[in-house]
Amino acid sequence: MSMKFSDLKLTTPYLSLAPLFYDEVEPTPLAKPFVIATSQDAAKLLDIDEDLARDETLVKIINGERKLEGSQTFAMCYAGHQFGYFVPRLGDGRAINLGKVNGQNLQLKGAGLTLYSRQGDGRAVLRSSIREFLMSEAMHGLGIATSRALALIGSDTDVARERWEKGAVVLRLSPTWVRFGTFEYFNAKGEHEKLQQLADYVIAESFPDLKNKEGMYLKMYAKVVSNTAKTVAKWQAYGFNHGVMNTDNMSIDGRTIDYGPFAFLDDYDANYICNHTDVEGRYSFKNQPGIAHWNLTQLARALSPIINYDSALLVLDEMFGSVYEREYTQLMYERMGLHERDEKDLELLKWMLGTLESSVIDYNLFFRKLSVYKGEQSQILDIAIYTKDLQEWLDAYDTRLSKEMLTCKERKERMFRVNPKYILKNHILQEAIQKAQKHDFSMVEDLLTVALAPFDEHKELEYLAKPTPQSAKNIKLSCSS
Ligand code: AMP
Ligand code: MG
Repeated sequence: MSMKFSDLKLTTPYLSLAPLFYDEVEPTPLAKPFVIATSQDAAKLLDIDEDLARDETLVKIINGERKLEGSQTFAMCYAGHQFGYFVPRLGDGRAINLGKVNGQNLQLKGAGLTLYSRQGDGRAVLRSSIREFLMSEAMHGLGIATSRALALIGSDTDVARERWEKGAVVLRLSPTWVRFGTFEYFNAKGEHEKLQQLADYVIAESFPDLKNKEGMYLKMYAKVVSNTAKTVAKWQAYGFNHGVMNTDNMSIDGRTIDYGPFAFLDDYDANYICNHTDVEGRYSFKNQPGIAHWNLTQLARALSPIINYDSALLVLDEMFGSVYEREYTQLMYERMGLHERDEKDLELLKWMLGTLESSVIDYNLFFRKLSVYKGEQSQILDIAIYTKDLQEWLDAYDTRLSKEMLTCKERKERMFRVNPKYILKNHILQEAIQKAQKHDFSMVEDLLTVALAPFDEHKELEYLAKPTPQSAKNIKLSCSS
């Protein structure tokens, strides 16, 4: 039997927790809502096989004018460390949960005021909603753990930011919306029983294998550590800068969530800071692994009423670095096309990063070019500003490649599977946004296609892989969204 979005039947297990965990709140509809984009690939997670765009109730449900069967809407309460400072109560200030189906929690972002809106208006603007919609799907396309986006709606409602913009809503999906900050909330309030209830909930929802195991809370913590290390390793390998790694933006199952002023590196620059308000560079590209570790320390502290804090720190120190290094180097060797192991590979990798930095060269384009490299150095040198270091490195790489068994064709095929042709860089997102603001959504559609299959060629969509204009390289983004 074929399945439509509007046929979904939801449950609301989170509401079986105590009222302190959430605020039951109704979405506030936007004016003249319309569907901008849908991800049929994300719909598969819900076993939906009918065309989302043809389901005429989709827009009403996302706009809060109608409810899916079983849906009871609510915002979740949490705390968090923002830029290192603890804020005892944050919570979903503009996200409203619909309920759960097929292991996915459905959430509207930008759906109006909640108990946790503080000074905010509960809204999300079109610009940032396009970014979240596309980047959720793009991260998935790259094989990086992330929340997903099912659909994006626009509206005629004015929303005040630096200037007037239009309100929009993304319907996003995640196996969990619990954050490190959710635990921090109950710990800071001294609600230790509720903290334990939350841990039981998280184990049931995200780590069911641990249920009733001895030491299950410490084991849960260990899972969070290793999942987080794996995700951040992939961010570093692909050049993704999240921008707002506050503990309330850290998912308890380690996936990437809460897309804001993120960026993919254009030219390789380890010190790059995508978030304009992050003056100190706390969340700079190179700081991300260290910040993930710091955030995990805060989680250990928050869990200390139910686990031994010192044991947790031991787990953190034993696992984080080793999992991170293993994941990162493995993926980087694949990106470099090194399939045999050589004792000098790590040195070659570090040398490469230094060289990319001094050469002024597009990070991901470099790997795509390297995938078809057959000793013609000019094809790579041509995309760099400074070539001397790169030439020396390529000489060493040539020697190293001679130890590989694969044919050029096999090597290229393997490297193309990890070296994307399409990366949703900010300049191209910006172009799509400018068109969308004039009601032309064709580029959003095109970007979604390449986002979900970034390693393929897509001959008709090559314009999305054009080089970043010099003036737009590694720019900083405003946090306003
Ligand atoms: P972020 O770091 O962007 O994920 O958001 C930090 C906190 O601010 C979260 O609790 C959000 O729900 C809240 N927030 C952000 N923007 C708004 C808004 N426009 N209205 C209400 N709350 C918001
Ligand atoms: Mg957030």
